[in-house]
Amino acid sequence: MGKRNLSSQTVGHALMALAQLSEIPLTHEDVQRWSFAHMANHLDIIRRVQETKQITLNAFPLDPFDPNNLGQWLYQHSVMHAQMDLVLGIAGYDLLSLDWRDEDQLIQWIGFNVDEHIQAGRILGIA
Ligand SMILES: [Zn+2]
Repeated sequence: MGKRNLSSQTVGHALMALAQLSEIPLTHEDVQRWSFAHMANHLDIIRRVQETKQITLNAFPLDPFDPNNLGQWLYQHSVMHAQMDLVLGIAGYDLLSLDWRDEDQLIQWIGFNVDEHIQAGRILGIA
């Protein structure tokens, strides 16, 4: 999976990706699907911010990731959200703390995360 493939994704794919991002990934396959769609949407956001605001946001490698070892992933992901929230004027959630094995926490976190992705997509004309 290369960056080339992700950046060639179309707006239609972005909509599908957002739908996938709102699903709660419970199985290993769910996690892989969610992870890919999530990274793709982040790259779409970064590309559109570059195109519309001439600002380059950091792109950390979020995919694949290990739900049992989230420390650095959570930090890098929350940095990416903080950067896009600042540029786009989105009031961000706390995405830094999550125990992926706690289903209640996971459901809340997935909802917070996708809410920011939806807001960014609307502002940037991605979805
Ligand atoms: Zn995200």
